[in-house]
Amino acid sequence: MDFEFSEEQKAYAQQVKEFCDAHDDIDIFDVTRENMAQIVDTPKRRAFMKELGHQGWLGMTWPKEYGGSEGEGVYEYILNEELAGRGGPQIGKGVGIIGKTLIAHGSDFLKQKFLPMILENDVEFAVGYSEPNAGSDAASMRTKGVRHTTEDGRSGWLVNGQKTWTTSAHFAEWYWCGVRTDPDNKHMGITLMLIPMDDPGITINGIWTMGDERTNEVWLDNVFVPDEYVVGEVNHGFRYISQALDLERFTMFTYAPIKQRLDLLTDYVRDTERDGEPLKNDAVVRSRMANLHTEAEVARVMGLKFVAEAVKVEHAAKAGKPFQPPTVVASEYKLFATELSKRLASASMDIGGPGTQLRVKTEEAPMAGRSESTYRYTVIDTIGGGASEIQKNIIARRGLGLPKNF
Ligand SMILES: Cc1cc2nc3c(=O)[nH]c(=O)nc-3n(C[C@H](O)[C@H](O)[C@H](O)COP(=O)(O)OP(=O)(O)OC[C@H]3O[C@@H](n4cnc5c(N)ncnc54)[C@H](O)[C@@H]3O)c2cc1C
Repeated sequence: MDFEFSEEQKAYAQQVKEFCDAHDDIDIFDVTRENMAQIVDTPKRRAFMKELGHQGWLGMTWPKEYGGSEGEGVYEYILNEELAGRGGPQIGKGVGIIGKTLIAHGSDFLKQKFLPMILENDVEFAVGYSEPNAGSDAASMRTKGVRHTTEDGRSGWLVNGQKTWTTSAHFAEWYWCGVRTDPDNKHMGITLMLIPMDDPGITINGIWTMGDERTNEVWLDNVFVPDEYVVGEVNHGFRYISQALDLERFTMFTYAPIKQRLDLLTDYVRDTERDGEPLKNDAVVRSRMANLHTEAEVARVMGLKFVAEAVKVEHAAKAGKPFQPPTVVASEYKLFATELSKRLASASMDIGGPGTQLRVKTEEAPMAGRSESTYRYTVIDTIGGGASEIQKNIIARRGLGLPKNF
């Protein structure tokens, strides 16, 4: 067993580091946006991602026939970790969730339309699974699609309903949307569709989270979706969504921000005096820091375990075996890493003392106010992509074979 990266992988990591150093700009890299830094929501961030594309770093794992370089997933891991550790935009949604699902299940039409745009970073997507009564149990979604033919003879689906928590809807061009197309079959009655966000039947209202970032509710009112924009088979959407969620659980909750916050707190403990005594001499503080470092190392290794499993899956898929994403490992990592983020945020508030309540970017606050922003944002990480309880259910059922609780 070897947890070290190969020489080639180390050289790639160095290349990415130098590229990021050359683009160091607070409008691109901002750690105070915590995990929401991953979204590509401003012209500068989009331009940066486009440059990443020109380096050949978008679609590194995609097949060559679609413009990829057929590299192993570990390269995407190295790239995303470097970006995430600096608070930069990341490659999860377009390249991962949408691109990989289209490659596996999309029609030639959808592949030709969207894959080149993803490689050039010319498109942003919003993901619409959640609804007011369908979150943890996403398969309960009710946004309804009924068969429809337009006056000029185009056949497709007329979609009506309400989505909620759609991050990126206010700037994305396309909606990756789950639609109920068979009311009588819960899991095999959902179809994935691609819908332009500027369709006149779409209304977007902002929801502001405690982490300062905007998410949205989205209303769909008689939105016509032509058949060409259906992803894969009608009524098979939930299968595609589940596979993509495994990917999301890993790629969207990176390890590097945990390390970055832990290093910040460690430096603070090393350099700070309280009541005339160095903080580092306090036995309680030392014990807490040692625990956090141990847990962070566990999270790092769990992340590498996921990467190793994912690479095995890639090899098996290339050899023609069915695609079986490492579901349990993804849930174990997501559960542990995001809950650790919250423990770390609490420790930062406790150890930093009352001054940590000052707002982020307050220079005179301990750690320039990072504790409070981390404290607010990390709550979201334990909800998005499936709440912690749901990860526990997956581990219990699929990992341990225990009975289903709902
Ligand atoms: C900031 C933010 C951004 C998001 N972005 C997106 C997005 O872009 N696209 C999208 O589709 N969704 C998005 N989501 C939605 C997210 O995936 C859901 O919030 C999440 O799946 C939980 O669903 P819910 O909010 O309906 O809560 P519920 O499912 O109602 O859960 C409420 C509580 O009950 C617990 N619970 C539920 N079922 C069980 C069970 N069976 N066993 C034990 N406990 C259970 C949950 O863990 C939770 O603690 C976002 C959410 C947030 C907060």
